[in-house]
Amino acid sequence: MVELSLIVPCYNEEKNIEIFMNECVKTFDNDTKVEYIFVNDGSKDETWKMVKKIKEEYQDCNIIGISFSRNFGKEAAILAGLKKSTGDYVAIIDADLQQHPKYVQKMLDYIVENDEYDCIACYPEKRIGNKFINSLSNLFYKLIDKISDIDFYQNASDFRLMKRNVISEIINMQEYYRFSKGLFSFVGFNTYYMSYQIEERKYGKSSWSVFKRIKYAFSGIIDFSISPLKLATFIGFISFSLSLVYLIALIIEKLTIGIKISGYPTIISLILFFGGLQMIFLGIFGEYLGRTYMETKKRPIYIVKEEINNKNNDEAK
Ligand code: UDP
Ligand code: MG
Repeated sequence: MVELSLIVPCYNEEKNIEIFMNECVKTFDNDTKVEYIFVNDGSKDETWKMVKKIKEEYQDCNIIGISFSRNFGKEAAILAGLKKSTGDYVAIIDADLQQHPKYVQKMLDYIVENDEYDCIACYPEKRIGNKFINSLSNLFYKLIDKISDIDFYQNASDFRLMKRNVISEIINMQEYYRFSKGLFSFVGFNTYYMSYQIEERKYGKSSWSVFKRIKYAFSGIIDFSISPLKLATFIGFISFSLSLVYLIALIIEKLTIGIKISGYPTIISLILFFGGLQMIFLGIFGEYLGRTYMETKKRPIYIVKEEINNKNNDEAK
């Protein structure tokens, strides 16, 4: 018997919960003892009600529900699930059925057979969605792979399965800003990459707008690299060297042929250029400083409002 904890972060997934659970029950084989952990990340719809409903409906299944006091984000929901999990293997899966549970069974079978691996990460064989956004996303992963100290496997999502030793390390990292793909890479261990067929979302809509994705990308870079800070030094050094050369040329010009009046537009555009550049870097410094500030506050990453589990079927605080 293999013990598996399945973490399902849910935000506004009322229509998906039941069909998701139904698919799971049909999918997992009898040798797999599943602990379902549904984390309701402050949904504004009836998601939590649906979690309670399936708890009633599937009496034979081990279902745990955690409900946050508000929306804390998928990364926080994943952490709450990881902390609650007790299985030897833990998998994270979306509630919208874009990732079919059959791949979890496939990952599980593979890791049981190949004990040298500690983690299996799935990547979509073919990406769906906007081509332009996808190529931007590829570019982002290439960039972050280059400028951070850790490896990012392109397209590998947080749809993955891990052994307990990996989970313990991830839980031990108590940082407030949790870019989970980065955390998974950071802890290392032997990872096997497996492809899967991504499907369209069953119901509801993705909570990731283009703007949110860009913000997420910036946040990932800042969380896992200090290269943007070094870039300021680099560009500063180059512009300083260039201005020095220009100054020497001006002095020589004055001493030999006498100086001409420099162009007003050139001066204005240079002021604007360097003024803008300085503001950008001030902003980047601010991002790092702001994060340091938030980390020092040590605020909780999430707050649980209700919980349902097996020991006590009623809600517990
Ligand atoms: N999710 C969450 N909290 C959020 C946003 C999303 O728990 O603030 C969950 C969501 O319910 C889903 C998973 O994270 O199970 C992936 O979200 P989504 O489908 O919106 O992202 P996409 O698949 O479009 O990248
Ligand atoms: Mg989705």
